[in-house]
Amino acid sequence: MNNKINRRQCLDALSRGIGVSMAPCLLSGCRSTGQSNPPDRKKKQIKHLITLSFDDGFKKSSLETARLFEKYHLSACINVIATGHLKSFRIPDAYQADISKGDFGLWNELKARGHEIMPHGYRHANKAKMPFEQARDLVLRCLDIFSRELKDFDPRRAVFNFPYNASTPALEKWLAAEVLAFRTGGPALNPLPHPGQVKLTCTSHGPGNIDRHLESKVDQLLSRQSGWLIYNTHGLDGEGWGPVSSYFLEKLINRLLALDAVTLLPAAQSLLTLAPA
Ligand SMILES: [Zn+2]
Repeated sequence: MNNKINRRQCLDALSRGIGVSMAPCLLSGCRSTGQSNPPDRKKKQIKHLITLSFDDGFKKSSLETARLFEKYHLSACINVIATGHLKSFRIPDAYQADISKGDFGLWNELKARGHEIMPHGYRHANKAKMPFEQARDLVLRCLDIFSRELKDFDPRRAVFNFPYNASTPALEKWLAAEVLAFRTGGPALNPLPHPGQVKLTCTSHGPGNIDRHLESKVDQLLSRQSGWLIYNTHGLDGEGWGPVSSYFLEKLINRLLALDAVTLLPAAQSLLTLAPA
């Protein structure tokens, strides 16, 4: 790796899909513009991987999340509702009421800045509470909109994030052949990325502030020999269901940056870079 690689190059590379050797630099060797990446870091073995998976596409929170991650040369994992920005969008639950959502102009901008923008449903329906055919239709409609509206979107390189982390065995079986992977409810700790890993499970917490719960899950991961924590976050600073405070999030990022065997990456990038097919 070029020792003089900077933040922009790092994020640009991420937006294109990067090689495994670059992924760890986002936490360790590329922490400030122009800083060199120590040779021994290139080959570091990832023991603890963390994905903070931000749902619902709130405009203000997404912008702030992206800004914060960029400050530390990290790529944020933001999952948005395909029709969330339209006037015809019907608020799916009280926790999303009166909160402005981003549109594909913003999602394309954030993607170009190196962040991961992934689907979180067509209209944020609970797909475990409807017939299979209806749920499949909503997923396909969601992927269609992403393919049209989000530059370079490819379902085969995408993680579909089930609204409410609600899926069914039949949906999971069908969807496994449509996308790179899907995220649903289940254990927070996953095995480290490996070929054929299609089902990702996560935990979440709410409706109030999640700072302490998130910290406890990070501590749980770090107490293990290895693993991949996928934590489903939402808005920042009181926005949406189960928000995290930006103060705590920045403190957590700083804590994780100091740990050599920890890597913080979005879900699809984790699979594409750490477990290439
Ligand atoms: Zn959601």
